[in-house]
Amino acid sequence: MESVPRCDLHIHTQYLGCANDTMAIPAIVKECERLGVELLGITDHLNTLDKLALHAPIRQDIDALSTQIPVYFGVELNFLGADGDFAYSAEIKEQFGFQFAIGGIHGTYLENYDLQQIVDVQHRHHLRTCQDPLVDVLVHPYWFGKGEFDKKGWPWFDSMQAVPENYARELGQVARETGTAIEINACANLVNGAQNDRYVEEYVAFLAVVAAEGPCFSLGSDAHDIGSLQKIKTAWQVAEQLQLTADRIWTPAGAPRKTPQAWQ
Ligand SMILES: [Zn+2]
Ligand SMILES: [Zn+2]
Repeated sequence: MESVPRCDLHIHTQYLGCANDTMAIPAIVKECERLGVELLGITDHLNTLDKLALHAPIRQDIDALSTQIPVYFGVELNFLGADGDFAYSAEIKEQFGFQFAIGGIHGTYLENYDLQQIVDVQHRHHLRTCQDPLVDVLVHPYWFGKGEFDKKGWPWFDSMQAVPENYARELGQVARETGTAIEINACANLVNGAQNDRYVEEYVAFLAVVAAEGPCFSLGSDAHDIGSLQKIKTAWQVAEQLQLTADRIWTPAGAPRKTPQAWQ
């Protein structure tokens, strides 16, 4: 079996205020080179349109790089509200030169605790993300912010047993039909300090059910700190554990924004 391509297609930067200042673009690329990453994508948040201008310096930093690995310029989208839209369009993609978009849900959108409803809302938004033609990758399915649960005084989401198997199957089917990749996310799902070993074990089993339906997968660290980039290795290991062949690992279409020096 051909080995899993060493991609990291989910990385944040210092520019959007979510990642810290260790995440300067040249430092990110240097660390990725050290880790053996073969292809990387910068994907900072675009939660609202007023943050769009903050992506221009990211593109400029990528253009100024000298790199050993191909670097793509992407973006991570979030819903503007429950069942809302993404702050994104074909015009924005064109105008800012985004080469791909990853997107997903980042909250429960609920006021009262109801585990089944929490899962239903996630599933609905997962399918909707897959059906959006501008989104290439569904990010971190069944990641939750622990802060939201703590703030609301809710029991923590620490088991994937709340997710019915037919949701996993339907997600895999819709992702395959729409050509959307499902993300294997290190920091959010596989190496998340707020989660326990059982959640991770159940999470890999969930991914296996999704994988059986035939979609492609994207591999991402979701690093917000330079020390977290190494967590991508866990995503590579899980892809191998799931016996995903190289043709099942998604990469962005077209040439990278920045090509390695060796290619020039
Ligand atoms: Zn996210
Ligand atoms: Zn992210």
